Amino acid sequence: LGRKLNAALSSLNRAPVVDEKVLDATLKEITAALLESDVNVKLVASLRQKVKAKVKAALDGSDKSKDSNRKSLIQKAVFDELVHLVDPGIEPYKPKKGQPNVIMAVGLQGNGKTTTCTKLAVYYQKRGFKSCIVCADTFRAGAFDQTRQSATKAKVAYFGSYTETDPVVIAAQGVVKFKKERFDVIIVDTSGRHKQESELFQEMVQISAAVKPNMTVLVLDASIGQAAEAQSRAFKESADFGAIIVTKMDGHAKGGGAISAVAATKTPIIFLGVGEHLYDLDRFSPQPFISKLLGLGDMQGLMEHMQDLATQNPDKQKEMAKKLEEGKLSIRDWREQIQNVMNMSVSDLPGLLISTKFRFFLRGPISKIASMIPGLPQELLAGSDEEGSLRMKRMIYITDSMSAKELDSDGSLFLETGKDGKPVGLTWRVTRVAKGSGTSVREVEELLCQYRMMAQMAKQAGGKNGWLQAMQKMQ
Ligand code: GDP
Ligand code: MG
Repeated sequence: LGRKLNAALSSLNRAPVVDEKVLDATLKEITAALLESDVNVKLVASLRQKVKAKVKAALDGSDKSKDSNRKSLIQKAVFDELVHLVDPGIEPYKPKKGQPNVIMAVGLQGNGKTTTCTKLAVYYQKRGFKSCIVCADTFRAGAFDQTRQSATKAKVAYFGSYTETDPVVIAAQGVVKFKKERFDVIIVDTSGRHKQESELFQEMVQISAAVKPNMTVLVLDASIGQAAEAQSRAFKESADFGAIIVTKMDGHAKGGGAISAVAATKTPIIFLGVGEHLYDLDRFSPQPFISKLLGLGDMQGLMEHMQDLATQNPDKQKEMAKKLEEGKLSIRDWREQIQNVMNMSVSDLPGLLISTKFRFFLRGPISKIASMIPGLPQELLAGSDEEGSLRMKRMIYITDSMSAKELDSDGSLFLETGKDGKPVGLTWRVTRVAKGSGTSVREVEELLCQYRMMAQMAKQAGGKNGWLQAMQKMQ
């Protein structure tokens, strides 16, 4: 979808004059892309009309010299209307500390409820909420085993039963138990059915009445297509959910169905499932999502992450930027930047370094981050995200074996220099570091080489990469 929308907007950009014909052609392409991605037909028609209405007035003006304005007007109108599609303007529930927050997950079988429950527990646990899972699925054989296994892997508490057959009883028992034990986030996983059945909806009503959730989440498979509207409406009636999580966004699914569900039920999406692993859960917010979809880049999201880093340690980051511009970044500083990227990917962009499939949403996310982090070489991140992640880890091992003096140096300690000051070989330090870190002389040499290249490039580029300016704007 993103690629097609992007193509539509770039052909708009190439058009020499912007008139009604060009507008129509652009809208036609956008409409086709949306329909092909299973966005509800009525929604698409209404989007088309709204964009047209917004832009038409400007097109009627006689001043043909304002084509670039018109282009951005069209782009902005398309952008705003797309955001509008995934933003019902309602704030979802946010768990609060110091009280039990009961979250109930509902949805058809196979949509990813159980997986998502574990991901959610991990997500909140990481943010300091004592989290747990109650398995109230007595319909699917082996459901409790699945919960037990994934909760154990995720190191979160769980509750369920092999003998009790009434899901309402289990749900109630589990929630009472965990409330007593002062858990902050109690996630109730429910059973699904292959189809929408009244029996399932009755069960949801009963469990909901028994556990009184603070938030009910509808878990939707991204590939649901045009059925999304009916399905989400049906669930809304029985289990009045206040949030949607769309799973399997990493696959080939078109995702448009999920967008329709938001519109049909006026309920916000809070997370996207982007893989099968524990960390493959992304926070969702409308504007960045649409920017990514349109290929406008994920700069906003990235800036937020950078801002997080900057606010955590503003002086440090400014100092780094300054050192970099002056060509004074030590190996220790460089190492810290690499660690920043590693930390960021784990805590803020889960799945970034873990899931290769993630590229669907963030095009080349790591290389973008790399280009924004002073002193991070692009080649470090070449290849798959896993390879990049592994390479960064090895760099950390290597620098772990350096002495304080070496870390604070510009790397020249490692080089034997000739009379003219040019490097002629490596010193004994290289061998020592290689041995100490369990790597090879070649690897250490490579790291030093990358560091030197980075230092040289940084000095030449000065503040041109905008890092310092960007930092200053954030303050
Ligand atoms: P439930 O029946 O709704 O509880 O669904 P499950 O949690 O058991 O998930 C069904 C299947 O979907 C499992 O094989 C999961 O690994 C897979 N799954 C769930 N979420 C995602 C996701 O975000 N991405 C991918 N690729 N697979 C997922
Ligand atoms: Mg399940």
